[in-house]
Amino acid sequence: KSSLPDVRERTLIAVKPDGVQRRLVGQIIQRFEQRGFKLVGMKMLQAPEDLLSQHYSELRMKPFYPSLLRYMSSGPVVVMVWEGHNVVQTSRAMVGHTNPVEALPGTIRGDFSIHVSRNVVHASDSPDGAQREIQLWFQGKELLKWDCCDQTNTC
Ligand code: ADP
Ligand code: MG
Repeated sequence: KSSLPDVRERTLIAVKPDGVQRRLVGQIIQRFEQRGFKLVGMKMLQAPEDLLSQHYSELRMKPFYPSLLRYMSSGPVVVMVWEGHNVVQTSRAMVGHTNPVEALPGTIRGDFSIHVSRNVVHASDSPDGAQREIQLWFQGKELLKWDCCDQTNTC
């Protein structure tokens, strides 16, 4: 039995169109790299409506749903899969509260946004949700296996 941490957990992180337009892609990637997570998939695309409606299917009855889909399809997004120990929960903490007015300074939303309808970044909210979203946005072959420079593979 290994005492190494579970480094295989994965989450879906997306820089939303406002984040791309405001040139925040690099700073957002940097935060996940410096925290110690591993980038295993990344692409840029203008998301089609059917993909977004599946991604946000749980929100389809919300009053903001139509404007959410317009926002998310208004320009390219950068979608990433990050891997590492407790990456889902830690990413949510790094991203901050959904509504920027509640998001603490030091979080991505707390540092870069002021309104819930332009909150810069998406992060999966559970391991099951992450798995569903990763399958939606990526093909298996787009997720890359690569090794680190030390035996724990956590570097
Ligand atoms: P999160 O992105 O933090 O997981 P939700 O899953 O609840 O939050 O909502 C998805 C996205 O819908 C939010 O990130 C935000 O862009 C948008 N959204 C949520 N609530 C509102 C709202 N009250 N008004 C406008 N947009 C909203
Ligand atoms: Mg959510």
